[in-house]
Amino acid sequence: MSGLSSTTLSDEEKLDVLRRLDQFRQWQSLDQKRYCLVCGEMITGREIQMIEGACGETPLRVVCPTKHCNAMPVEWVPPTEEVLITIAMMDAERRWFCLVRRAGRAMQSFQRRRTSNTIGRTRPKPTLGPQ
Ligand SMILES: [Zn+2]
Repeated sequence: MSGLSSTTLSDEEKLDVLRRLDQFRQWQSLDQKRYCLVCGEMITGREIQMIEGACGETPLRVVCPTKHCNAMPVEWVPPTEEVLITIAMMDAERRWFCLVRRAGRAMQSFQRRRTSNTIGRTRPKPTLGPQ
């Protein structure tokens, strides 16, 4: 972010800037929340970063406050029920995916152990306990 500086604006000015630069959705207040599609974070109008041009007092851009995320207003969606469900589903999916991967790895090493154990054996050992 060299060459650009964050501006300190009053709440009113911030809201004004947001309304001007975010032509996609309505801003009623700075406490309104948006879901950033790029970083997957929930942000509020107050948190949104306003980046000022090198020469000029008017902030030129508004960007996502999340580190390393430069999402623009078009990528912020209101957290409607639909969006919240999607977030929850993505979260569950991620957790499920981790679980499946872990289980897959465990199975693989288990099978490797089994195959190496049975090599050279003519009759398989009867299994003990429930399968
Ligand atoms: Zn973001």
